[in-house]
Amino acid sequence: MEPIKRNVLLNPGPATTTDTVKYAQVVPDICPREKAFAGLMKGLREDLLKVVHAPSDTYTSVLFCGSGTINIDVCINSLVPEGKKILVVNNGAYNSRAVEVCQMYHLPYIDVKSSVFERPDLAVIEKTLQENPDVAVVYCCHHETGTGVLNPIREIGALAHKHGAIFISDTTSTLGMIPLDVVKDNVDFCMASAQKGLMAMSGLSFVIGRKDIIEKSKDYPTRSYYCNLYLQYSFFEKTGEMHFTPPVQTIYATIQALKEYFAEGETAKFARHRRVYEAIRKGVAELGFDTVIDPAIESGLVVSVKYPEDPNWDFEKVHDYCYERGFTIYPGKISTTNTFRLCALGAIDVGDIEDFFKVLDDALKKFGIELK
Ligand SMILES: *Cc1c(COP(=O)(O)O)cnc(C)c1O
Repeated sequence: MEPIKRNVLLNPGPATTTDTVKYAQVVPDICPREKAFAGLMKGLREDLLKVVHAPSDTYTSVLFCGSGTINIDVCINSLVPEGKKILVVNNGAYNSRAVEVCQMYHLPYIDVKSSVFERPDLAVIEKTLQENPDVAVVYCCHHETGTGVLNPIREIGALAHKHGAIFISDTTSTLGMIPLDVVKDNVDFCMASAQKGLMAMSGLSFVIGRKDIIEKSKDYPTRSYYCNLYLQYSFFEKTGEMHFTPPVQTIYATIQALKEYFAEGETAKFARHRRVYEAIRKGVAELGFDTVIDPAIESGLVVSVKYPEDPNWDFEKVHDYCYERGFTIYPGKISTTNTFRLCALGAIDVGDIEDFFKVLDDALKKFGIELK
């Protein structure tokens, strides 16, 4: 197997992959309607449940062909009953995306907006639920990838359940990295795409959720044809296949990535991401950059770094310098502060981060950028 040029992606996904995952896509052509391929997808769906410790008698996983946002679309348009509301706990760009989906489908929603620099206030959520008994769905992303804030989903899920609502969490940027137990964490529906925590390729996304609720949603208003959760689920249950053409090669890569996930192990992988994050925090501090989020509420997967004051700072130039040397840095997603992000996703380790900071230090010197 010829090694493939290795790039260290410090953007929030797609993440750096292993060569074995890349090569897993090189397979004989196959029609995805073959029984052999349906068998592969069955195993894949079962393995996805294991990643989030979902019991297979009550939870199922449903695959979609698309980037991670397709899951947000699917869950929101499919799981709000007629005449009921969805409450979005919103402290950043990815929760705002859910609000936009509500707007596109003309769904009644409550946008409980709070500071992007902080965790949401549980008392405000509870009060809103008390005042709005017609809320049937509570939504909040686990990790606001735009800032790096980790949200208290277990507590938010408990509030939702206490008030008779279901809880959907967008776990796209934590699943497979931060241990998640859907039952203990009070999550009825979670989601991710293959290219983030699982370190596979883009193009495959999946929703993991409660079968009884999906069955019930059969009678909810249908708001989309391609992106309806019940339709895709029932097709899988009847035929073992995706309703429409699956991303064939991405599925092979994901199966290989899951093998590697289970071989590395949940705890060891979590620890690796954590030490990569610590190395990022250390490098950032040593060079003298400021950051914007209190580490106590960070996911340990994304660090939002403030642009330096020095007029010589030019993100594009620094990005290009790093990119040419195999490292990708990524712009921030905070509208009020200019930031860039360094992320701990992917098949990388502390040595890669140390190498990166040498390159970043060289870039600062070359462009005459002074910090502090
Ligand atoms: C990456 C991500 C998504 C999906 O983004 P796509 O570009 O559609 O893959 C959704 N939610 C969160 C929290 C994410 O980090």
